Amino acid sequence: MRRLILAVDLGATNLRLGVFDIEKSRFVARAVQRTNVSQGPEAISSQIVEAARHVLGEAKFAIQEIEGVGVVAPGPLDLKRGGIVRSVNIPYDFVPVKEPLEEKLKKPVYFMHDAKASAMAEYMFGAGKTIGTEYLVFITISTGIGGGIVDGGRLVIGVDGNAGEIGCITVDYRGKMRCGCGSYGHWQAYASGAAIPRYVKHLVEEEGLRFEQDSPLVKATQNLASLSADKLYQSARTDPTAMKIVEELATINAAGVANVINAVNPEVVTLGGSIVLNNLDLTIDKIAPRMNNFLRVRAPTLLPTPLGGDIGIYGAVASALSQKT
Ligand SMILES: [Zn+2]
Repeated sequence: MRRLILAVDLGATNLRLGVFDIEKSRFVARAVQRTNVSQGPEAISSQIVEAARHVLGEAKFAIQEIEGVGVVAPGPLDLKRGGIVRSVNIPYDFVPVKEPLEEKLKKPVYFMHDAKASAMAEYMFGAGKTIGTEYLVFITISTGIGGGIVDGGRLVIGVDGNAGEIGCITVDYRGKMRCGCGSYGHWQAYASGAAIPRYVKHLVEEEGLRFEQDSPLVKATQNLASLSADKLYQSARTDPTAMKIVEELATINAAGVANVINAVNPEVVTLGGSIVLNNLDLTIDKIAPRMNNFLRVRAPTLLPTPLGGDIGIYGAVASALSQKT
């Protein structure tokens, strides 16, 4: 009999599932669908159960082979109640996850914050394994900015389970940019995918930034009306003003990354998330040299996560393997 983990990466946009073979240390089945966030909080767990039964049935896995279910989701989480609390892109006060899944799948469910689980995945399957370190930080720069810290092979949790909320590190104490959390001057209020259009607007309206007359970015976005982080990074190679903004963002990211490094003294820092993974030359290559200006402790190895876009689903596996007895 095989030893399998059912892995569930519950995102606000996509629901990813995987069946992971513990002995082979690889996925033996995968599935992805859009997350149903429009039909009430209970519909989300029902969708997971249905998708899980489908992926297990299609690949003809016996339910006895499943040793546990690892589930990761964007925070904030209430781990005592086993659900998601008022997450930015999931419009409900509370989404129950652990209890309905345990009830319907009749398996233990190991629930964890997605970015923290990704740090565990990095340790167990990614850079932790290839480089052989027990001291690492994983940072994702995507719609939001988040991360997780592994110190001496253990995830840093904090008294309430909220350690690693690094997107809310202050990079500008006089900051005018408002974070999704309500505070001002936080890292993700400038450099996250959700914030970048607002930040560019701020630079133009409040700080006198001017684009060239034939700016490809201004043309491609109907006078910045449809500006997105993707379009900014895409245009940077042909638009000098877009490049200036990208370099400013690299400095902000370097300050954020360096703050974490100064606090934690890791051996390796890996970066992931769509903004980084789609633009390595404009993100990591520009962050690395700028970072040194802010560092007090030894510079760690900085690299893109070797797990790429799969780090979330590996995180679900890590959630189960690190918590199950
Ligand atoms: Zn914040």
